[in-house]
Amino acid sequence: MDILTQPVASLHGVGAQTANRLQKLGIRSVQDLLFHLPHRYEDRTRVYPIAAVSAGMNVLVCGKVEFTELLPGGRKTLVCKISDATGAIFLRFFHFSAAQSQQLKADTWLSVFAEVRYGFAGLEMVHPDYKVIAHPDAAVTDTCLTAVYPLTEGLSQNLLRKVVRQALQACGQLTDWLPEKLLRQFNFPSLVVALQTLHAPDESLTMNALQDGSFPALKRLAFEELLTHHLSLKTLKYQAKTWPAPVFADHHDLGFQSLAKQFLQALPFQLTGAQHRVIAEIAADCCKPYPMLRLVQGDVGSGKTIVAAHTALLAINAGYQVAIMAPTELLAEQHFRNFSSWFADFSVQIGSLTGQLKGKARSELLQQLADGSLAIVIGTHALFQEQVQFQRLGLVVIDEQHRFGVNQRLALREKAQVAGIRPHQLVMTATPIPRTLAMLNYADLDISIIDELPPGRKPIVTSVIPAERRDAVIERINAWVAKTRQAYWVCTLIEESEQLQCEAAEKTAEKLVLALPDVRIGLLHGRMKPSDKDAIMQAFKNRQLDLLVATTVIEVGVDVPNAGLMIIENPERLGLAQLHQLRGRVGRGSDDSYCLLMYQSPLSDTARQRLGILRDSNDGFVIAEKDLELRGPGEVMGTRQTGLMRFKIADLSRDQALLEDIQQISDDFFAHYGSAIPPLCQRWLGESVNYSEV
Ligand code: ADP
Ligand code: MG
Repeated sequence: MDILTQPVASLHGVGAQTANRLQKLGIRSVQDLLFHLPHRYEDRTRVYPIAAVSAGMNVLVCGKVEFTELLPGGRKTLVCKISDATGAIFLRFFHFSAAQSQQLKADTWLSVFAEVRYGFAGLEMVHPDYKVIAHPDAAVTDTCLTAVYPLTEGLSQNLLRKVVRQALQACGQLTDWLPEKLLRQFNFPSLVVALQTLHAPDESLTMNALQDGSFPALKRLAFEELLTHHLSLKTLKYQAKTWPAPVFADHHDLGFQSLAKQFLQALPFQLTGAQHRVIAEIAADCCKPYPMLRLVQGDVGSGKTIVAAHTALLAINAGYQVAIMAPTELLAEQHFRNFSSWFADFSVQIGSLTGQLKGKARSELLQQLADGSLAIVIGTHALFQEQVQFQRLGLVVIDEQHRFGVNQRLALREKAQVAGIRPHQLVMTATPIPRTLAMLNYADLDISIIDELPPGRKPIVTSVIPAERRDAVIERINAWVAKTRQAYWVCTLIEESEQLQCEAAEKTAEKLVLALPDVRIGLLHGRMKPSDKDAIMQAFKNRQLDLLVATTVIEVGVDVPNAGLMIIENPERLGLAQLHQLRGRVGRGSDDSYCLLMYQSPLSDTARQRLGILRDSNDGFVIAEKDLELRGPGEVMGTRQTGLMRFKIADLSRDQALLEDIQQISDDFFAHYGSAIPPLCQRWLGESVNYSEV
């Protein structure tokens, strides 16, 4: 019988309650337990002289009790000073028994393990693990490092160590899905050796070795995990391509001018070379009888919307409907207006569906989608509610995808399916992520890059200034508005609630109204009624307002070329990608434009460097790369962008170099080791990936 697939409850000492708690850690089977790896190690293999310890170290020391004292005060604290030949350190207990305070009497020898930290009277150890010993040489040291596991409430390290030890006995039955050839190529240990090494390090292993990302056992498992994530997304991509999709053939050969061509010819500007290239890539995809899954990455202002509009017309021309999804109502509304005016001459029916559309208007719109009289619907995620049915949905466009996670993207793909036909899918994002990371996050998509801005754009001049110079900034707005230009003032407070963010914007607006009596000021935030938001936005567009005070709701989509000055308050609180995105609201015309990053002093060194990156570059890809160097990938993508992608072992900042090899190895896997992919996914991803199609 296969012990590995047995539930953990089959192990000694694991009852129903423990099994439940283990399940909270995602551990159900014996195999899961083997892949629950220590997140750190403790070194109890040697006794440190007290003089050699410093704050932050987890160490074993031996000392004789000098005195033990009950500190007076509300919260009873027991403090004990111990010393060895080299120095002294304090032990501190907040919870203790009477027996304990008796036990810790002067002249008793103790061996003590804990993390050292700064205390009131010098270095101390809080709630240490301690034993009374007969004499200083009687301290019991371990021969090997001790594994420390991630826990959940009610589980102890000791219990976990015990059950893992049992599971390790079944370790030999694990199949190593990485081929020999690959192990040799990278000098990786076998799976069994890697797991044993990490769970139960032997005497030869030192702390430094285990914490080093290049440690072979660790590297092998991280590689396997990252490879598996990549393979699973690739599998989804291949599966999606086995579905039939509508073919948007262009009928120009019949002498008929397609809508898409007419649209491009009617534009008041020339497409950039990059736009041309991407449009051609998309058109080629849409002529194939299986679904396009394409991501268009292009910096803010690179002109992605035109590309989406062109694709929409290919679909409509072929008699299919189009759904365009935006992350915010503001952007959905903006797209609705743009598309309505662009397509006015083509008698294309366009509708808008957000969470706000209710009652009769909503049911009418749903009816028009269902009977096919509406060619395009533009909306928020409300588009993918169950009641929304299309007659012939042929294309789904998802704009500003960085606002959605991987899993949401996959979910949408499922929902968008009608009658066995899968629509083509176009995903657009302005958040460039470095190529290696794209391989993990977007492996289920083909990628097109718009790496060129429309001509005539001048770089946005960005300065970094302290909030102390607020008055000068306000004066600058006055002068700017006097030149009939418009401006944004962005209030940021991401770690706080949306409510607080809105209040901050309200207060700022009130103050600015007083400080700038001649300036027409509008306020825009997420908690306003959509119709009010829209009214403000329109007033700003029509130049009835000079200054728009807003929260980060304006991050995406807002397009007012005359607004060329942006003040961002507390920029140090936002990620660089988001700041770059916000800043992209200005510099949309051919005039000079400026962005003032008004920080709160004092600024940490890293924060200063990060804002410096933004000041020195207008290129989203450069900014992303530098941010990656400075902060590591997790932060660059942000939790918002990584969606549900979490790793058990891999750490993207430590293991980035591994990603370089994965692309090529993954092709090799699909070609030669395809049967290893499902069990690898099962092992590393468990239920977190939807394999309903397998
Ligand atoms: P983003 O890629 O950020 O979504 P948009 O599609 O909103 O950018 O385009 C930004 C602005 O540039 C819009 O006003 C759009 O009409 C304009 N634009 C797009 N392509 C071109 C082009 N080739 N030449 C000039 N202006 C363009
Ligand atoms: Mg856009």
